[in-house]
Amino acid sequence: MGTELLTIGAFAKASRLSPKALRLYDELGLLPPARVDPVTGYRRYAPEQVERARLRRLGMPLVHIRHVCSLDAGAAAGEIRAFWARAEADTAARRDLAAFLVDHLTRRDPAMSPTAPALSLRYAAASDTGLVRESNQDTAYAGSSLLAVADGFGAGGAPASAAAVASLRRLETDGVPADGLLNVLADAVDEAGRAVHDAVGGTGSAPREAAGTTLTAMLWTGSQLGLVHVGDSRVYLLRDGELFRITHDHTVVQSMVDEGRITAEEAASHPQRSLLVRALGPGADATAEMRLQDARPGDRYLLCSDGLSTVVPSDGIRRVLAAPGEPGQAVRELVALANGSGGPDNVSCVVADVVPGV
Ligand code: MG
Repeated sequence: MGTELLTIGAFAKASRLSPKALRLYDELGLLPPARVDPVTGYRRYAPEQVERARLRRLGMPLVHIRHVCSLDAGAAAGEIRAFWARAEADTAARRDLAAFLVDHLTRRDPAMSPTAPALSLRYAAASDTGLVRESNQDTAYAGSSLLAVADGFGAGGAPASAAAVASLRRLETDGVPADGLLNVLADAVDEAGRAVHDAVGGTGSAPREAAGTTLTAMLWTGSQLGLVHVGDSRVYLLRDGELFRITHDHTVVQSMVDEGRITAEEAASHPQRSLLVRALGPGADATAEMRLQDARPGDRYLLCSDGLSTVVPSDGIRRVLAAPGEPGQAVRELVALANGSGGPDNVSCVVADVVPGV
């Protein structure tokens, strides 16, 4: 004698799915009853089928459930873990956007307050070919209101990174409004994308090697920094002696980490770690990450290309940034560290200190 089968009513209650949904899942071949009485047509479900029904309550799409159910237990567990990691990453991204918008809509510009201390940036930039590459396709720039790093790739990588940064430099002369910074940054990235497209000749009909650039930049409003980010260059913030990485790499490998498929340690040595999922260039997804950063006196920002972060562990970066000294000294030491580790790639660093005074 087998396990007691459940009526559709009892199963609906146990799985918290409606009988109507259960009939639909049966039609789709997703969750057929364990037995259908040939005479009455009553459906009976086995208690262990509750697990499958729960996948639907997890928010998993039907086709995905079908796939998971075809796997053995270990592989199915991996799929569910990956699904949930992705759901959490999506939620985190939406939470960031919500926080950004709330901040953006409610913030009163501290620069307008008579009690807020005036702040400015002290900055330096350095870019180096490294010890292996024949040319430098990176572009690094630092000015009183713009900090930028771009890492060009493919044929035309150097003009691509130069065009992206040159396009943003227009913002220096136009001035940065305290209001509507988000729109200004979005427009600026669109324009940079067009400039990169022109620079690499993306309108040609013949298919060519993919070319383009990353772009990571910060725009100083006098009290805040607006961040735009596409690709795998990075921004780190040193605040109160602690180092925070405030950008997310737009790489295949980072997506795999987000989905729980590999660990951060495995990502660091992954052979395809520099494969981008977003970039500026023909055919690339140029969706930019944008954020406002509040500035505090004593903050030190680092923008860098992957030529630094790939070979210098964050602890080494933190040590250089935390040491006393001008931004110029820090960028020189960081470039030296990358080259001391073999200098396999072009390396670019921009360091900016938030200091009292104008
Ligand atoms: Mg690079």
